[in-house]
Amino acid sequence: MSEPLIVIGNGMAAARFVEELAKRTLGRYAVAVIGEEPRLAYNRVLLSALLAEEVAFSDIELKPARWWRDRGVTLRYGVRASAVDPAARTVTLANGVALPFSKLVFATGSQPIKLANPGMDLPGVLTFRDVDDVNTIAACRGRRVVVIGGGLLGLESAYGLAKAGARVTVLHLMDRLMERQLDPTAAAMLKRAVEAKGIAVRLESQTARILGTRRAEAIELADGTTIEADAVVVAVGIRANAELARSAGLAVERGIVVDDHLETGIAGVHAIGECAQHRGLCYGLVEPAYEQAQVLARRLASEDAAYPGSVNATNLKVSGVNVFSAGAFLGAADAEDIVLSDPGVGVYKRLVIAEDRLVGAVLFGDTADGPWYLDLIRSGASIANLRDDLVFGRALATRAAA
Ligand SMILES: Cc1cc2nc3c(=O)[nH]c(=O)nc-3n(C[C@H](O)[C@H](O)[C@H](O)COP(=O)(O)OP(=O)(O)OC[C@H]3O[C@@H](n4cnc5c(N)ncnc54)[C@H](O)[C@@H]3O)c2cc1C
Repeated sequence: MSEPLIVIGNGMAAARFVEELAKRTLGRYAVAVIGEEPRLAYNRVLLSALLAEEVAFSDIELKPARWWRDRGVTLRYGVRASAVDPAARTVTLANGVALPFSKLVFATGSQPIKLANPGMDLPGVLTFRDVDDVNTIAACRGRRVVVIGGGLLGLESAYGLAKAGARVTVLHLMDRLMERQLDPTAAAMLKRAVEAKGIAVRLESQTARILGTRRAEAIELADGTTIEADAVVVAVGIRANAELARSAGLAVERGIVVDDHLETGIAGVHAIGECAQHRGLCYGLVEPAYEQAQVLARRLASEDAAYPGSVNATNLKVSGVNVFSAGAFLGAADAEDIVLSDPGVGVYKRLVIAEDRLVGAVLFGDTADGPWYLDLIRSGASIANLRDDLVFGRALATRAAA
C-alpha cells in the first residue's frame, strides 16, 4: 500500500518536489497536493513578464493537468489547508475534509509584507505575489501609480506598469536601489536605466500615510511631500506563510525551522521553499527552493542526501536592463575586488575574491557570464589560474588559463 504524503501549497517548490519524487519512487507514496490558489502551479518568477504582457498565462504554467494525473497525484486546488494535527497525522481543509498523512511537506511560500502606516487598507493599495494581483495591477494601466519599494519586485512591477502606459513613481527608503543585491555604483547605473524607461525614482523617501477617502488618492511622505496616485503597489518584502505550522505546534521563527534533512522537529513533517527556515535563513528565491525540493525528494526515496544551504543569486527581469548579483557582493575585510567599469557603454562588473576563491559578483549591463560566476562561487573552486582574466568572462579567462 502507498504511504499517504500530503504537500501543502501548490507553488514552485511543491511542483519541483513532486517532479523529483516521481522520478525516483513513483508509486511508493500516494501524493496529494493542496493549493489555495484556484489554478495549476505556475512560474511565479514570470509574473513580472505577465504583467508587462511579454508572456501569456499559458506560457507560465509549470505542468499541464495531464502531467499531474499521469503521476497519480491528487490535486486539490482552490482550497486552503486550515489545520494540521501532527499527533493524529491529519490535515483539515477549509471545506472540512480531513486527510490522513504519513509524510507531510509544507511548501506554503510567503506573502507580501504590508506596511502599518495609516491608509494601507484603502482600496487601490495593492501587493504583487500571484496571478490575481497581476490582474488587479494591470487594471492600473494608463493611470498614476506609486510603487513603494525599490527592490527587485518593486522595480519589476514598476516596469510592467510603465510599459503598459502607467505613470509610475518608485519610492525607496534607502539611498540606493536594490541595496541588498547591488553595490552603490551598480545601483546608480540601475537608477539611470530605470529612469530612462520613464519611471521616476525617489530615494530616501519614507512613506508616512496613504491619503484618500474611499480609495487611495495620494501618498504623503515623512517630509510632508504629497504625490498623487490612483493606485499604490506595496513591494517592501515578504514574510513566510508559517502560521499553519505554528498553530500545529511546529517551531517557527522567521519561517518553519528545519534541519539539514528539511525536517521539522516532528518526524516525517518537512518544509521546503520560502516558508522554510534553514540554519537561520529564509530564502526569497526560487533556486534554493528547487535545491531543497530535490534533497527532500531524494531523502523520501531513501537516498542519502542533505541540504547545506544555497548561494543567493538574482537577475532583474526588466527588458534591456541587465543586472546580476550573487553571493557576498559587498566584500569582507579580507576580500579583494576586481572591478571593470565602462560607463560609456553602460557596463560594470565587480568580482569579490577571498583566499583565491570567488565569493561574490555584481554585473550591470553585460550579465552573460553571471551563471559561470555563480558556478564558481557555488563550487568554491580556486580561481588562481583564471584570476588575470576572470573579469573579462569565461571565454577569455578559460582560454588564457589553458
Ligand atoms: C513577481 C515576482 C517575481 C519574482 N522573481 C524572482 C526571480 O527573478 N528570481 C527568483 O529566484 N525568485 C523570484 N521570485 C520569488 C519566487 O517566485 C519564489 O521564490 C518561489 O515562488 C518560491 O516557491 P514556493 O513554492 O516556496 O512558494 P510559492 O511559489 O509562493 O507557492 C506557495 C503556494 O502555497 C499556497 N499556500 C499557502 N498557504 C496555503 C495553505 N494553507 N493551503 C494551501 N495552499 C497554501 C500559496 O497560495 C502558493 O500558491 C519572484 C516572485 C514574484 C512574486
